[in-house]
This record gives sequence, C-alpha cells and structure tokens, in this order.
Amino acid sequence: MFEHVDAYAGDPILSLNEAFQKDPRAGKINLSIGIYFDNDGRIPMLPSVRAAELAVVEAAGPRPYLPMEGAANFRSAVQALLFGADHPAIQAGRIATIQGVGSSGGLKVGADLLKRYFPDSKIHLSDPTWDNHRAVFEGSGHSCETYPYYDPATGGLRFDALLAHFKALPPRSVVVMHACCHNPTGVDLTQDQWRALVPVIRELQLLPFLDLAYQGYGDGIEEDAFAPRLLADEGLAFLIANSFSKSMSLYGERCGGLSVICPDADQAARVLGQMKFMIRRNYSNPPMHGGQVVAKVLTDAKLRAMWEAEVKDMRERIQSMRRQLHDVLVAKLPGRNFDYFLTQRGMFSYTGLSPEQAERLKTEFGVYILRSGRMCVAGLNTRNVEATAEAMAAVLAG
Ligand code: PMP
Repeated sequence: MFEHVDAYAGDPILSLNEAFQKDPRAGKINLSIGIYFDNDGRIPMLPSVRAAELAVVEAAGPRPYLPMEGAANFRSAVQALLFGADHPAIQAGRIATIQGVGSSGGLKVGADLLKRYFPDSKIHLSDPTWDNHRAVFEGSGHSCETYPYYDPATGGLRFDALLAHFKALPPRSVVVMHACCHNPTGVDLTQDQWRALVPVIRELQLLPFLDLAYQGYGDGIEEDAFAPRLLADEGLAFLIANSFSKSMSLYGERCGGLSVICPDADQAARVLGQMKFMIRRNYSNPPMHGGQVVAKVLTDAKLRAMWEAEVKDMRERIQSMRRQLHDVLVAKLPGRNFDYFLTQRGMFSYTGLSPEQAERLKTEFGVYILRSGRMCVAGLNTRNVEATAEAMAAVLAG
C-alpha cells in the first residue's frame, strides 16, 4: 500500500544532533543545534518559568479546548511584549494575534494566510536563512527567492545590496526578515538600517514577515523588539512570528505566536477570522499548558522581573563566550581578523569554516558545527571554549 512513499532524508540539523549523541568520544562538543545550554551544558529550567508553572498547576481547573486563536491572556501578553502595552496599534485593535504551536506554527499559519490572500506574491528569504523558512513557505505552496544578506568577506551584512534588491521588487512582495539574532549568521541590521528600509517598504508596498525567535538574546528584551515597534510606529502593515522556545527555555512546550499588524481594526478582525479558519482545518486549537506558563511569567510583576534578569544572564554568558573564543583564536592565529565573533549577535555565528573544515572539526576534534559553518555559541562553556577555539585554529591553519 505504501510502497511508493519515499524515504525521508531527515533534517540536517537534527541528524547531526543524533550523530553527536551516538559519538562515543568523551570530549565531544555539540555546537550544532540551536538550543541554549548553561555553563554546565544543561538546558536550563528558568526559576521564573518554574515558579509560573507551579502556580499554573496549583490553579489548574478543568481543561476545556482553547479557542482556535488561543488563550486571550497569552495573546494580549504577546502583543504587550512585542509592541509595549500602550502601543496605539494595540489600543486601536489593529493587531490580530494567535497563539501558535511554537513560532513554527505561527510561521505556518502566516504562510497559509499569505498563500490564500496574496497568491501572486513571491516570498523573499535572506541568503542564507534558517532552512525551515524555505520548507515552511514551499510547504504552503509558495515559491521562494533570496535577497542578498551575509557578506563572507567581512562576516557582516551586504546592506547596500539588500536595499537595492528590495527597491527592485514588485509591490506586495513578501520579505521574510529576522527581527534580531539572525539564524544562521548572527548578523543583524542596525537600527539606522531598519529606519532606512521604512520608506522602501512603504513606497514599494512590500509586506514584511518578521521572525523574532531570539528576543532578549541580542541587546535586551525591549531592544530586540526594535524592528516590530518601528514598523508599527510607522503605520506599516506586516506579520510577525515570535517564539518563547529560547527566551523561556520552553522548547518542548511549543509556545509562540503570530501577529498581523493591519491598517485598521476591521481588517484585523477579518484577518483573525481567516487565521481561525486555517487553524480549525489544521490542528483545531493550540495546547493550553505552556501558553499559560508564558502568560503568567509575562504578566506577574515579580516573575517578569525574575525572567528579565535570567534572560540577561543567558545573553551575557553568550557574549562572554564570544569574547573568549575570539581571544584564543586571535592568540593562536595572529594577523587574522576574528572581530565578527564579537559583532555577530545572539546564539549563532557564521564561523567562515567551509563544509570540509566543519567536517574535519567533527571527525578530528569531536566539535560539531553545521556544514554551513554555523556554530551555536550558546553550546560553549568555560570548560569547552578553549578546546573549541584550539580545534578551530588548527583547522583554519590548514
Ligand atoms: N525561526 C527561527 C529563525 C528559528 O531559529 C527557530 C528555531 N530554531 C524558529 C523560528 C522556530 O522556533 P519554535 O521553537 O518557536 O518553533
């Protein structure tokens, strides 16, 4: 019956992670998967999240289905987190927010919505981007193209090329952009560069689809919401998927959202209605528990303050690992420039290693990074950072 079903090649990131688990070497180092590990190499259980979870369990009543769009307290907490509680767009009812199944679920609902209502719009992805972006949009029937982004020569951004590319796009083109902590490169737009995009988006009627998966890992929880706040302040229409997987260390609870910022409340109501319809046909409604934990952390003043301090600690730990990696590499390979490890932000860095060098890093030194050269800096700790830097230096030296 199912003879004609093709074998699944597997997801390259998850497959590498499995290969790491099977590797018997004691000193192996996993910098492949996009997960924040603490200095002891563990996925943290944030005390704020733990306390919120206990409170949610304690208060637990019956478990009805949530509405298709998710829990009202989660949805309004997401809007306040992204835009600030008093943002005029929230007060005007111009934002349609759903609780997704992680932000991946939000991206999928957004992709389906765009396919139905913008069938002729192409999706433009940064070169490179998170592989699953293409998979999700193509899975919804879109065709995807790329826009210039990463500059291998500098380890920075090709902003002029990006701008020129955007200026040549047809109206209603969808531009998928990482709001902060670009995955996989760690290269972000500056605030001035975001500002420079505003007139282009407005004049060419582009439709941005922001992806905010690492809020708090760049410069801060508020600071990392700069892009959505700017676009909303400027009265632009756009979509934003946001995640709590990393910021609350709640990967398996699948907590995230999708917000569509519309020109007025009437359009927002219709967009919300169509998103509900898409959810109903797809998975009916989101799960309850994780979203209630997130809502509790975001809305309880004491837990919120704890969480903000915990996110700061995670961010600063990554920054200190970046500095240590940089310093060892500079000492080992004087004359080479490794500044990009310091300017790139968030969990990831593009190391500049070729697929062959990444392979050598794995086979000879047991250090796992992606073939693209992407390293998860959040997998470094005070015990493995030096060994990692030394292995990288050996591979880079040829
Ligand atoms: N977008 C980007 C850029 C990501 O890196 C990730 C997680 N790897 C996601 C979305 C999905 O996150 P979630 O766990 O919320 O589905």
